[in-house]
Amino acid sequence: MAEDCLFCAIVAGEVAVTKVREDDDTVAFTDVNPQAPVHILVVPKRHIADIAALGADPQASAALLHAIRGLVDAERLADFRTVFNTGAGAGQSVFHVHAHVLAGRPMAWPPG
Ligand code: AMP
Repeated sequence: MAEDCLFCAIVAGEVAVTKVREDDDTVAFTDVNPQAPVHILVVPKRHIADIAALGADPQASAALLHAIRGLVDAERLADFRTVFNTGAGAGQSVFHVHAHVLAGRPMAWPPG
């Protein structure tokens, strides 16, 4: 657990969230500031800063993708968008890697 990491605190149960899914390696919970009718964050339980660091760990990478697949199945999501913001300049505000899973409204591409 990293000090001063909000998502580590969520994983540890120190900050209350609405959990949607959990397995040995990951937790999924609803985003507090949803950008779509469905907006769920999927995070590894272990502190990993961003997708670049995640990608260096094939086992953790597979676990996160597997969790997204499990979430999509459980929530019966057909069309959805998965976003990893990486770096402050790209909108990352919590430096514990997380997939945003967004669904429930039409989404333009490219995003605004
Ligand atoms: P990012 O800006 O890509 O790092 O995404 C961080 C996300 O965490 C944002 O969409 C926030 O709305 C969300 N967030 C921040 N605090 C909480 C919280 N306590 N519970 C759930 N989601 C949160």
